[in-house]
This record gives sequence, structure tokens and C-alpha cells, in this order.
Amino acid sequence: MGDEQNAVLTRAEKAVLGEIWTSKRAYENLVYLCDQIGNRWAGSESEHRAAQFLQTKALEYGLQGVTIQTFPLTGWRRGLTRLEVVSPVAREVAAIALPYTPAARLEGEAIWVGQGEAEDFERLSGQIAGKIVLSAAETTPGPGQHSSHRREKFARAIAAGAVAFLFVNQNPGGLAITGALAAGFPAEIPGLGLPKEAGDFIVRLLSAGPVRLRLQIGSEFFPTTSANVLGQIGPAWAGQYILTGAHYDAHDIAFGALDNAAGAVVVLEAVRALATVADTLSIPIRMALFGCEEIGLLGAWYHASQAGDELERCRFVLNVDSPVGPVPGNETLRLCGFPELVPYFEGISREMGYDLPVQDRLNAYSDHFPFAVAGVPNGMLGSSSAGTGLVGRGWGHTPADTVDKVAPKSLQTAAATVARLLLRLARADDWPGKHRSRAEMAATVAESPIGWYVEKFGRYPFQPAERALTL
Ligand SMILES: [Zn+2]
Repeated sequence: MGDEQNAVLTRAEKAVLGEIWTSKRAYENLVYLCDQIGNRWAGSESEHRAAQFLQTKALEYGLQGVTIQTFPLTGWRRGLTRLEVVSPVAREVAAIALPYTPAARLEGEAIWVGQGEAEDFERLSGQIAGKIVLSAAETTPGPGQHSSHRREKFARAIAAGAVAFLFVNQNPGGLAITGALAAGFPAEIPGLGLPKEAGDFIVRLLSAGPVRLRLQIGSEFFPTTSANVLGQIGPAWAGQYILTGAHYDAHDIAFGALDNAAGAVVVLEAVRALATVADTLSIPIRMALFGCEEIGLLGAWYHASQAGDELERCRFVLNVDSPVGPVPGNETLRLCGFPELVPYFEGISREMGYDLPVQDRLNAYSDHFPFAVAGVPNGMLGSSSAGTGLVGRGWGHTPADTVDKVAPKSLQTAAATVARLLLRLARADDWPGKHRSRAEMAATVAESPIGWYVEKFGRYPFQPAERALTL
């Protein structure tokens, strides 16, 4: 880049940082989304109101082509749920239904599978059929070890012939943990989320002998719609474009401040600030705030399928999910299927004088994944949870994911990082990213820790049934 171009970048960057560091908008928008609008659960009235609110803000911030991209889905509503130990003692135990569980009424023997990894199921092979599987929600992996997602543990339980799946929070505090079982269709077997204390109680009973459980789950499915909120800044068309996105939906038992109202307001704030220097962007930056991430990335799958061949012109997808941690400024960038781009982003981090850890690791559980599958260079900006003393998702997916966990300045640092990355990506004349073919990406997935899943079930862990392995 020539000196003149460098000067343009520096001026634009200072203007953008000034915008972000003198603005309370991201925090105000977060408070509004969580406290006024509520849980933003997929397909609910609350989610629809959130989409309208974000659309209004995008228009106010000067984005072009602001639209709401609506798509159909099968909604889910929880009903009365009850879990009881029948023997060796009689006791009701705290539990909630996991989204997309079928309704159920059954009794069975419990079996504890520990962290629910492949080796745990292998160790217990032949003992699981007909039983109610009890599994730790998250895995605390050893160095270099895979930490399976809920859907992978659930799939192992199904494959082993379990009749139900109980998912135990690993963090104390009486908080039941949630998480969808399926991508917008009734799950194969029923599932419940338990607080750590309830799970530990059952595990203690199991250490002395067999434990019988009775569960009763109310669950309702109905047709509804969800939506992505779209807009863009910069030149109308320049051959290529950048896409940045974040999901704004959350779980019905939570307010989703960290996961992911924070991501949605950070992306909106970054794009708002960049709109003030839109004339310095060489290519447009498109924004997509996704619905239904929490039930299998349905908004992102839909958006990617609608974009079709246009994705070939997409330079990079920057997904922002849970960008705020307990310590401000601890953003991390995780590329998905593009290890050769790690040095490029490390170079940007050095150039910015801002420590941004960069790695490449296949992650099928946030909105960048449908774009990764299509071969588009992509990454997710998240945050390190170091310093919370919590494992796994921490407060995420529990009723404790509330506004008080989010410091306004954490939103400012995350928005600044997102904006600086986008500014550089949209001005780069040395962009080294190359698209992959879908077949190459499929091969990468096949070699990854979720390869077995794809082979066994014929689709990605969270993928709408009708789109098996395609967009
Ligand atoms: Zn999320």
C-alpha cells in the first residue's frame, strides 16, 4: 500500500475509533434488546420485535438497502416438565425441557456417561440401550483434545439406543442449562437440561446402585417465521463484498446478553462507525443480523442458500458471536477451514498494535459455518472466557446470561476490533484469501472431529433435514 493509501487508512481508522469510543449506542441497544424486548426466542413475537428494532437502527445509522429477510420455520414452545427420581429414593429434581424435545412420559434407568465423549460411550457400549443417558453439558478437554458439542453427545446417545438424554450444567448455582436438540424439527429422543446440583445428586445415587427416573415433558410445535436483518455500506457494487453478521436471537429461558445481543449490537455499532467513512471503502460491507442461530443456524443457512452463486464474490465472512468476556478487550478470531489465512490476520493484529489471538479450528456451531461449507473464507470473532472461573459456556444458555454481565467498554473494544478488521478487509489490495470448492470443504469436515457424525447421519450436526449436506 502506498503512503497516500496508508494515510487514508489511518485517518479513516481514527475517525471510526473516535465514533465508537464516544458512543453509548451499543450498550443502549443491548439493554433495549434484553430488558425491553426480552428473550428473542426463535420464531416468537419477541424475536420479530427485535428484528424491527434492528431494522430501525440500521436505517437511522445510514445503512443502504435495509431489508428484513423472512423465512419459515417450525417453532417450539415448552410445556410443563417434571423429572423425578423414583428409586432408590423418591425425589423431584430440577430440570427444564431442551428446545425441540418431543413431548414424553417415560420411566427408565439412568446411566452416567461423564463428559459424553466418544471414549465414554465406547467404555459403556452395550450398557446404554433402553436407558436415560446423563451427560455433562460441556467437556473440559485436555490439550489438543476435541470438546464435543451437545448435538454430538446427543447423537452418540441416540446411536447407542438411549431413550432420553439429560444434559447437566458443569457450573454451580442451581442454573439449568439449555440448548436446542435439533435444527427446527422434533428431536429423535426427549431431552432435559439440569442444574449441576441436580445432576450431581443423581450421579451420587448411581455410585451406590441403580437409579430409576421418571420424566414428563410438555412440548408443542407450530408453524411460524423468523428473519434476518440485512443492510450495507460502501460502494453499491464493486465485484466483491465483505459480509459481517451476528445472531440476535437467544434462548427462551435467557435474555442472551452475552450470547448474542452483544454480538448483534457490536456488529451494528462497527457498521455505524464505518458508515461515517464509507467513501474510503473499496468494496461494500454487507451486514446480516441472523435469526434462529440457537436452533441450528437456520437464519444463516437460509441466507447462504438465498445468496447462491453470489457467495463466490464474497471476500470474507466475519461472524461475531459472544464477543464479550469478563475482561474487556479479550476478543479472539477463529478461522474455520482456512489455516493459510492465520498469518494474514496475525499481521493485521500487529499492524493495529492490538493483541488479537488468531487460530484456525473447524467450528460447526455458529453462523459462519454455512458459508464455510460453501467455501467462503470466514471466521468468528468471539472472546476468551479466561478469568471467569467458569467452564464451557459460563453463563451462556442459562437464565444468568443477563445485561449485568456486559461492561459497556467491552462492547466498545469489541466494536473497535470488528470495525478495524472490516475496514482493512474492505480496503485490502493484497487480500490473499482463496475460495475452496464445496468438495474440498467437505473433505476438511470429514477429517475433523465431526467427520463421524456426517458419515453416520448424512448431514452436518445442526442442519435442517431438507438441506442435507447442501445449501
Ligand atoms: Zn451464539
